[in-house]
Amino acid sequence: MIDTHAHIDDEAYSQDFSEFIDRQRSGRVSRILVPATNAASCRSVYQLCSTLDGYALPAFGLHPEDVREDWQEQISQIKSYYRHIIDSTGNSRPIVAVGEIGLDYHFSVEYKKEQLLALRSQLDWALELSLPVMIHTRDSTDDCISLLEQYAKRGLQGVMHCFSGSRETAERIINMGFYFGIGGVITFKNSRLADTLTHSERFDKVPLERLVLETDCPYMAPVPYRGQTNEPRYIDYVIERLAQAYQVSKQTIEQQTDSNAKRLFRLND
Ligand SMILES: [Zn+2]
Repeated sequence: MIDTHAHIDDEAYSQDFSEFIDRQRSGRVSRILVPATNAASCRSVYQLCSTLDGYALPAFGLHPEDVREDWQEQISQIKSYYRHIIDSTGNSRPIVAVGEIGLDYHFSVEYKKEQLLALRSQLDWALELSLPVMIHTRDSTDDCISLLEQYAKRGLQGVMHCFSGSRETAERIINMGFYFGIGGVITFKNSRLADTLTHSERFDKVPLERLVLETDCPYMAPVPYRGQTNEPRYIDYVIERLAQAYQVSKQTIEQQTDSNAKRLFRLND
């Protein structure tokens, strides 16, 4: 099982970090992708991942909720840290994606203009590096997807992190060749996500080839752990719910989503 979006640098895990990692390994989690949210977190995420020998892999980006007046300075710090890693380690591909980036108008639209500019700038960076993107969008679907559609035409690939949108949105994501990040939400009683993915009179199922698994831990724990601290190994419950919705075995879901994640993020075995 590959968790394609986990904030394992969160302080929720710092107390017993090595036991936490042991639990994930024995819980069948084979790989963890760790998105950063600003310049400082790129450093801590990178340093944390470096201690885990390829088990956890970093993504660098400026999260929309971290966009302020200083967004340009933040992005330039992220880029220079990225170049510093390449120069000092010789590793030509130190990150697996640009993320998490996107638009979030939920709590405030004060920096809406800056969020759009920061997103464009980071989408350009992803194209330049030939890396996929991890996209966070909340209360901003149309702005976000309309922009991504332009970049997808130029070859950009990526994942819509924590997808829980409408069937119409799903169609646009399929058409631009992006992936769906599926997490704990699908297990919630009031969630219509499983239906959106599999049942519709107007559309076919969202192809299994387009799904990747994620926790967004420490948030979004699936049932039966809803409300508690989430952990990558809990994606097993997401697999179970997906198997039920697609009427296939858990093994099919696990194998397919693993191979999707490997393809999108170019992970080796
Ligand atoms: Zn996240």
